[in-house]
Amino acid sequence: MTAIISEETRTRDAIAAAGKSLFDRGLTFGSAGNISVRLSSGDMLMTPTNASLGALDPARLSRFSAEGVHTGGDKPTKEAFLHQCMYCKRPQSAAVVHLHSTHSVAVSILADTDPEDVLPPLTAYYVMRVGALPLVPYFPPGDAALAEAVALRAEKSHAVLLANHGPVVAGATLTDAQYATEELEETAKLFLLLRGSAIRPLTAGQKAALLPQAPPPDRHRPE
Ligand code: ZN
Repeated sequence: MTAIISEETRTRDAIAAAGKSLFDRGLTFGSAGNISVRLSSGDMLMTPTNASLGALDPARLSRFSAEGVHTGGDKPTKEAFLHQCMYCKRPQSAAVVHLHSTHSVAVSILADTDPEDVLPPLTAYYVMRVGALPLVPYFPPGDAALAEAVALRAEKSHAVLLANHGPVVAGATLTDAQYATEELEETAKLFLLLRGSAIRPLTAGQKAALLPQAPPPDRHRPE
């Protein structure tokens, strides 16, 4: 029992710290964005509705049972289903980060990207942390069809980009999900900086060579 309590307390503090770090660096604003972690019991902690990620109270995070029933804490975010979609298709994931980070959202609005993989492999770290980034077509927030569309793409990639909305990224740990989301945001920024320039992304061969040689499963690579 002590171990369970300690894992949950640690996780609550880690979610609040991650939220503050993202907020302080301008990666999220207002009450946008949400973070969740799946505990070893299968229960899930998630940032509540209308909460600034910069000022989370660890004791008030929304808590869900393994079956997805809200069992405690503040009222959950309306975007809880985005997290649940990722977990149900990615049993190896233990954390999900969803942001409305500016450069990623900007890329999600561009008309001429490849919906199967929105960003080119600009750098090795993008390939290792994000890999592929499918675009989920636009649906109004809360639309049940959005859940279905996310689930479809989550089967193939731990990172998806919601059109005209933002990224949803799963990871083996909260740190992995956070770092991958940040790598995505910085790569989106690079991509926008390079618009109109002739670019030399990694070749298919260079990209493929990075994946099998990536470091051990729990760190610094897509799952
Ligand atoms: Zn959102």
